[in-house]
Amino acid sequence: MQKMDIGIIGGGQLGKMLIEEGLRYNITFATLDSDANSPASAISSEHVTGSLQDAMALKILAEKSAVSTYEIEEINVTALLDLQKQGHAFVPAPESLQLIKNKGLQKQFYGDNHLPTSAFVVVKNVHEWKSAIIEKLPQCIGGKIVAKLCEGGYDGKGVSILKTDEILSGAAEIPFEGPCVLEEFIPCEQEISIIVARGLDGEVKCFPPVEMDMDPVKNLITYQICPAQISDDVLNKANTIAVDVVNKLNGYGLFAIEMFITHDNKILINEMAPRPHNSGHHTIEANYTSQYEQLIRILLKKPLGDTDIIQPSAMVNIIGANNFSGAYVLQYEKELLQMQGVYIHMYGKKESRPARKLGHITIMASDMEALRVKADKVLTMCEVVAL
Ligand code: ADP
Repeated sequence: MQKMDIGIIGGGQLGKMLIEEGLRYNITFATLDSDANSPASAISSEHVTGSLQDAMALKILAEKSAVSTYEIEEINVTALLDLQKQGHAFVPAPESLQLIKNKGLQKQFYGDNHLPTSAFVVVKNVHEWKSAIIEKLPQCIGGKIVAKLCEGGYDGKGVSILKTDEILSGAAEIPFEGPCVLEEFIPCEQEISIIVARGLDGEVKCFPPVEMDMDPVKNLITYQICPAQISDDVLNKANTIAVDVVNKLNGYGLFAIEMFITHDNKILINEMAPRPHNSGHHTIEANYTSQYEQLIRILLKKPLGDTDIIQPSAMVNIIGANNFSGAYVLQYEKELLQMQGVYIHMYGKKESRPARKLGHITIMASDMEALRVKADKVLTMCEVVAL
């Protein structure tokens, strides 16, 4: 049986964009997703319909593929570890995924390796919250804590910012039942992300940092700009930390490291992802090598590409409106298509739902000032409406 060059576990938009980049090189892909019409499976050469928790489905994908990667964390890691033992190749390694997909283990890894991150404590259930806060996070009393479900949260779901006193007095309900990380709330100046590529031979390249603006209600990135507006000193320190994280993990593949920059220019790691990341969408048009191409190069053992930017860029997510679910159109598509340096990506999701990521728009301009003007305009034009 002729194997596919690359297997992708998960059929979402990140997988779709990975395939789009690979098609330029005539690379063949197999995908695994429970939906045969998912964004990536619609354009892959072969598709396996099955759950990402199903060991048999994962085995079928691995057997079809020379090497496999993933575009989502919610995968049966035990099955991946077994398949790896049987000789199937996964990049990043299942061990990296195992550590990263559990926010408790991930935080512990930063702590154990003296990597800068906010103070935290891991709790197993609601009964442990109060004593854990009093013993491990006394500095948060009178202030705020951030609670994160260890497993299963994504895009801000499973994250809750809470007033510590209300939790201690019982005035506020504890929002999560299962194991959680409780961490110190970090009032920050900026949130940045650095995508680090590390080849199988240990070659490392960082993409220039991006800076995000968050929607405090949806907890989604609304606007992202590259390069991040930070000093050379912060840039150097952030790059050093990001590379240190991946080296200490002994990670191979692509890793997005999200960091907070505090008002006094301290850098603290928020979290990382072992896959292409929302904060790297702009690299398709705005960098010499995109994050997706970089991952393909790693998977196929080719030299890493140049990560420099071609022009400053911004990225805006196209998100499902709150007032409807169903078929949709991009309301201002015509006007957007008439703008120079504006690139629309639609993920091919059949239905819009509130807060669902349906696509994104990359905006490029020759300087930061022109970029902001254009991006602000695009931000008002990225709504979808019912068809
Ligand atoms: P997700 O994995 O769902 O994206 P994150 O851990 O990135 O969740 O948290 C979502 C957002 O919540 C962050 O981007 C940040 O704006 C805010 N946040 C998370 N942790 C902290 C913290 N310790 N202090 C302040 N804000 C935080």
